[in-house]
Amino acid sequence: MIVAVFVLAMSACVLGLILWKTIDARRNALLQSEVDIRNLAHSLQEQVSHTFQAADVAMTGMVDLLKYQNPRPERFNQFLANTIKSLPQIREFGVLDATGEWRYSSLPKTPLHNNYDRSYFTFHRENDDPGLRINDPLQSRLTSQMTVLLTRRLNDQDGSFKGVVVAAIASDYFSEAFKNFDLGEQAGISLLRNDGIVLAHWPSLDIGKDLSGTQLFQNKLKETRSGYYRVASPFDGLTKYIGYDQSTTYPVIVTVAVPEQQVLADWRKHLRSDIAVAAVLLCSVILLATLLSTQFRFRLNMEKALRERESRYRLLADNIADVVILLDRAGNFLYVSHSVEFVLGLDPAALIGRSCFELVHPDDIPAVRAANAKLTGSSTMQSIVFRTYRDDRSTAWVEINFKHAERAEDSDGRIEIVGVLRDVTPRKIMQDELTALNTRLAELATTDGLTGLANRRTLDSFLSRAFAQDDRLAVLLIDIDHFKGYNDSMGHQAGDGCLKRVAAVLADATINTSALAARYGGEEFAIILPGTAEADAVTVAEAVRLRVRALEIANSGAARGYLSISIGVASRHARTTNEATLLGEADLALYEAKRRGRNCVVAYAALEQDDFSTGFQQQG
Ligand code: GH3
Ligand code: MG
Ligand code: MG
Repeated sequence: MIVAVFVLAMSACVLGLILWKTIDARRNALLQSEVDIRNLAHSLQEQVSHTFQAADVAMTGMVDLLKYQNPRPERFNQFLANTIKSLPQIREFGVLDATGEWRYSSLPKTPLHNNYDRSYFTFHRENDDPGLRINDPLQSRLTSQMTVLLTRRLNDQDGSFKGVVVAAIASDYFSEAFKNFDLGEQAGISLLRNDGIVLAHWPSLDIGKDLSGTQLFQNKLKETRSGYYRVASPFDGLTKYIGYDQSTTYPVIVTVAVPEQQVLADWRKHLRSDIAVAAVLLCSVILLATLLSTQFRFRLNMEKALRERESRYRLLADNIADVVILLDRAGNFLYVSHSVEFVLGLDPAALIGRSCFELVHPDDIPAVRAANAKLTGSSTMQSIVFRTYRDDRSTAWVEINFKHAERAEDSDGRIEIVGVLRDVTPRKIMQDELTALNTRLAELATTDGLTGLANRRTLDSFLSRAFAQDDRLAVLLIDIDHFKGYNDSMGHQAGDGCLKRVAAVLADATINTSALAARYGGEEFAIILPGTAEADAVTVAEAVRLRVRALEIANSGAARGYLSISIGVASRHARTTNEATLLGEADLALYEAKRRGRNCVVAYAALEQDDFSTGFQQQG
């Protein structure tokens, strides 16, 4: 559109300029030609007038002389011949007597023919007008040339007709004079008499033609003696510019006619070159416009594509559940996608220019900084989960994946970090719950549900680990005495409560030590004491037995009315092949404790030494 307007404007300018120049040049050409043509007509008219005047002066002298004198022909003929020499424009002078016979002549030989029948002779004979008469051009009887005859009446002293003085000028004389002006083909110069008769014409020979009906005689001369007009030539029909000038002294007019074609020839030549220039200019304009429009279209398409791409990116950035951020070198926000409003309830515009660390929970700032420090090239991506604040200052867990920006060629290089932020609060909560559940599950898998002590499985693995690691290792197997009876009298639920209380004593005894207390099964428990010698293990066992007894749980089935436990102790020795052996020995010791009356501690080693005769037994 702009290009079309540009082309039209430029074309209009060029064409307008050319048109203006053309019109101006045409007007100037016509003006100049008018001046030239009129000047020429005027100067030719003056030349013609001088020619006639010269003849006129000579003839006046002759008329005056011959009025009173009758010179002898030889002498006067000589005088005429001499006069002709000084007036070369005049072909001949002659004097006719009252009968029309030649009386004098400038010719070497006076003609003999009679001119009585010539119209000019009749005219002068019958009119006493003494003025110079310019006659119709006629063909000379002597030279057969077209001739303009100038005549004057010759009077006698009494005023009667005495003859006619004649001066002959060849029409060619004028034509030759006119020829000297190089007006070009189809131009024409005419000498006309006031009544419209052509006296001389260059270059054609329409001498004697009557032009009285033409515009010149009908209108122009009536208005002004000299002028200029445009007309179709009466000679050749071409459109011509005609300049005319009428003599003030003689009844003659000189016209100069130049065809319009010739007047405007130079102008036409310039017009052609102007048109060529205009064409070149217009072509250049069109070429330029084509180039421009191609360029424009290319740019428009490119801008459109860019806009579409940007809007696509924005649409993406604003509508995904993630928040896209761009940070500068100092960690200040350069761009935050609109989705931040939806995700965190924050105004994206308000974040621009602010430091990203303002949004990081103070406790998480070191971790975020550390992740940032790990960024190297643009290819490495860092990911970190941290706490941030929502608009209502509540805490949200977010995960950010960020990396150094790849330098786009057209970027101004301000963008340092590109990141995608995601609200992971629900995930984090679920993760925490899952972790708790897993911990709980792990607990459940390793502990006894009723007492909270380690279960049998944990006991087994702990024991095998301890057996593999330590040469010193002691095991306590604990069984509640007469528990069946307790159950029966107090009920199973009370039995469970009792188991818990005993377990609590065992747990308390091993807390903050490397030892493990476990429920071995039913109302049986075990304590593993890594790095413990038998004597120490017996001490521990005794302490535990006393503490259970000190609970003073009534058990009617027991010998002394209170709940008690029996403990078998075994420690690793040179012949202990594996952990099962160790447990077996502890079990034997326990069996011995029961056999000895319960509520006591029996060590397997002592059992061996004493061959079941000695043992640590204490009744409480
Ligand atoms: P002894 O002194 O010879 O050990 O006599 P005792 O009655 O304890 O005999 P025994 O060891 O054979 O009896 C175990 C009893 O413990 C049988 C069962 O009723 C009871 N018992 C085992 N596990 C549980 C339990 O989880 N809860 C309750 N309430 N009782 C249990
Ligand atoms: Mg038992
Ligand atoms: Mg028992």
